[in-house]
This record gives sequence, C-alpha cells and structure tokens, in this order.
Amino acid sequence: MPTYRAPRGTRDLLPAERPTWARLEALARDLAARYGYREITTPLFELADVFERGIGEVTDVVQKELFRLAPRTEESERWALRPEPTAGIMRAYVQHGMQTWPQPVKLTQTGPMFRYDRPQAGRYRQFVQFDVEAVGDAGPAIDAEIIELGFRFYREAGLDGVEVLLNSIGDGACRPSFIAALTDYYRGHVDVLPPLERERLDRNVLRLPDSKDPAMTALNAAAPRITEYLCDACAAHLAGVRAHLDALGVVYRLEPSLVRGLDYYTRTAFEFYKTGREGQQQALGGGGRYDGLIELLGGRPTPGIGFGIGLDRLVLALAETGGASDAEPAPVAVVVGADPDDTVGRLRVATDLRGAGIAARAELGRRKLGKQMEAAVRDGAHFAVILGDELADGNVTLRDLRAATQELVPVGELADTILRAGESQPHG
Ligand code: AMP
Repeated sequence: MPTYRAPRGTRDLLPAERPTWARLEALARDLAARYGYREITTPLFELADVFERGIGEVTDVVQKELFRLAPRTEESERWALRPEPTAGIMRAYVQHGMQTWPQPVKLTQTGPMFRYDRPQAGRYRQFVQFDVEAVGDAGPAIDAEIIELGFRFYREAGLDGVEVLLNSIGDGACRPSFIAALTDYYRGHVDVLPPLERERLDRNVLRLPDSKDPAMTALNAAAPRITEYLCDACAAHLAGVRAHLDALGVVYRLEPSLVRGLDYYTRTAFEFYKTGREGQQQALGGGGRYDGLIELLGGRPTPGIGFGIGLDRLVLALAETGGASDAEPAPVAVVVGADPDDTVGRLRVATDLRGAGIAARAELGRRKLGKQMEAAVRDGAHFAVILGDELADGNVTLRDLRAATQELVPVGELADTILRAGESQPHG
C-alpha cells in the first residue's frame, strides 16, 4: 500500500485518460463559442455567503455538502469551495456591472466543483462541470436554445440516446400555492414518510416528489403536480419553451416531479439523462432559469438561465459504449543515432524540430541503435531521424517507419521535409 493516496472522492486522471477529457473540454469550449458564449473564469472559492444566499441555506448542497475552508484567520472561516458555478458567475456579473453590457450576457466556464458528499459511482468530491449562463433574457426562446446546446453537446461528444426531462417549477406568483398543496398532501401521510423525507417536509417540501426512496413511489405518484398550479404567465412560458424545442427537433419529456436541488430556480428546469437511467440519481447534466438569483446577490432583478453538464459522468457513460478511449498523441519523429554517446547531437536536432512545430523525442539513453529504433517504433512515431556517418556531410537519414522507406536529407531541410509529409500535427 502506498503511504499517500488521492483524497477520498477525488481521482488522478492519468495520461491515458486525459485525451478523452481534452477532447470534451475542447468541444465544450468550441460549442459554447459557436453559440456566442464568452469565457469567464471565477475563483474556485468564494465567501460562503455567495452560496448560502444564492443556492439557499436549506438545500443539501449548502447544509451538508459545502466544503468550508479550514479556519486560519477570521476571513478564511467564511470561505467555501464552489459546489456549482452559477452563484459565483452571478456574483461576478453584479461586481463588474455587467448589467450595463449588451444583454443577454452569455458566459461559459468549464472547471472543477467541490461537494463534500458520500463518494460513490459517478459521485465525487471533486468533479468537472461544463457550464453556460445567459443573463438578461427572460425567454422562452433562449431556454430552448440553451437546452438544444446541451443536447448537441452529448451528440457531438459521441453519446447517443440522451433525453431531456423538462418541467416548470413556477415562480413567486404560483409556487407558494403549489408548496401549500404539497405540504398539505404530505402532512396527511406523515406517518408513512421515511425519517429523511419527514425532515424535508418542513424544510424543503419541493424535494419530496423527486425522492428516490422506494417507500415514496406510490405516495409521489398521487402527489399534486406543479403543472396544475402554474399561473398563466408560467404556463405560457412553458408552452413557449416546448414550441421552440419542437421546432429544433430536441427530444424531451415532461417530468412534473423534476424540481432540481437548488433554491434559485424559477420556471424552466431540465435535466439530461441517458434514456432508461432516469430514476437512478445519475443525471448527466441539468439546469434551469434563475430569475431571482441576481437580486439575491445584491443586483437589480435580472432574468437568467444556464446549465451545468458533468464531464465525469459523461466520460463514464462514454466508456460504457467504448467511446472514451481516445488515443494519446505519439511523437511525429524520434531522433536516434549510431553513436550512443552523442546525446548532444540528438537533442540539438530534436530541439530544432520542436522549434519548427514538430512533436519530436530525442533518444537520451546511451543504448545501441537497434534498441533506439525499437523504442521509436514502440512510441508510434511516424519517422525516425538517424544520425550516422553522413552527419559529417551535413546529412541525416529520415526513415518513414510506416512506409518502411528512407532517404538522405540535409539537416537544414529536415523539418521542411517532415512538414511536407503532412505531419505538422501530432497524430493519434
Ligand atoms: P447539479 O448542479 O447537482 O444538478 O449537477 C449538475 C451535474 O453535475 C450533474 O448532472 C452531474 O453530471 C454533475 N455532478 C453533480 N454532482 C456531482 C458529483 N458529486 N460527482 C460527479 N458529478 C457530479
């Protein structure tokens, strides 16, 4: 057993895993740019207040899962690692006066989030989210645009069979009457509620219809549904989102029990699932509208909508279908030599190739040429550059390991010759 291991709930992503991650991160960046989102980077930690106010003090994320930083000074006692990106980005929106920018302000960020949760499959204490936020547009067209963006992300990532679950959770006008109806309903059955759900009844009754506890299944099936309580404005908004999703060909399913865990959501709420996995707390991603959040953080009332897509769960889902085995880039050229001691010569040639943009490795060991060549093949290199007696005339042997051909090339023309062979990029 090693003395030290990565903390529970965290993982090292090793070189063989990174190419898939790099592909997904690049796709997230590219796709967000295609839809007009600009990058923002916010700190990994904020005043805990930002999360307590923004997410809500009676949510699991804040009550149980917030990573508070160990007190060293009075100030640091009030910090917490970010459990989700939206609150921090909205803090930045207010701080930098983004309400004076052309609206909507469309922002994107991909990075690590932290939740002090019990680790299990697909649930880590540090995980990565691809996040987009559109602030200053009350929708509903932009709601559909964002959902379609997420839907496309999975498809372009190579994961098929992703489904959107959609709901409206109402707003300040209609949610109170729904909450009252829900509270009445569960109060009437309080004797059969499991302890955790009983506790939630008083704190956050909206979480109950979403409970995955088997003891709740029958009860939840007959519970009041938000769709029956929506005010006219919220009902019209939901109809608008649906009309736009239909027009864009996004496959979605209405799910009246979908509430999302965070307090700040209004109206549109959605989650992405692999079809058939809906019940298993394995949402691939989710988001919603948060028209009250910016005001909570001290700004002017401003509508907003966004999503967070978990890359860890996407990688797991891709692995199940064999789509998470992207190859590591191999060196284009490996520089080897007949004189085992001439590391200076080999390193100098490799350095010139790198300067010309070519991925090159120099053999820095002092083994025989045959062994050096074997290693070059094992590396998956396209070319071996062999330094031999011809070096006296300023020439090297360029061997194409794939075509099994070779030619004598002046050192000064080596990089151009390799680039002409179409190998300016590392290949996979
Ligand atoms: P949430 O804000 O809880 O809806 O999270 C959005 C997405 O982030 C989820 O759908 C997951 O893909 C991912 N996610 C949330 N919590 C975790 C976690 N503890 N470990 C891994 N991924 C997570």
